[in-house]
Amino acid sequence: MIKLLILGLLGFLAYTFFTLITRSVAGGKRAVPSHKTRQGEDMVQDPQCGTYVPRGDAIEKTVGGQKHYFCSARCRDEFIAKNR
Ligand SMILES: [Zn+2]
Repeated sequence: MIKLLILGLLGFLAYTFFTLITRSVAGGKRAVPSHKTRQGEDMVQDPQCGTYVPRGDAIEKTVGGQKHYFCSARCRDEFIAKNR
């Protein structure tokens, strides 16, 4: 009975450890785990099209010494081309 309990505990620990490792590996490379950052996040306005996007989802780019946030790469490129 005790043996079974220990085995179960070990299995649980191994499982927890495994998920922790895989999660940190998967989450480490991507800067934004989009579903997690959405809540309570600052909204920033895209100066190109006027859309509000969560800061974590926005594309950040410094143009003319000022930081801007864009909804997409297209808006960013258009804004840069316009403000060159
Ligand atoms: Zn946009």
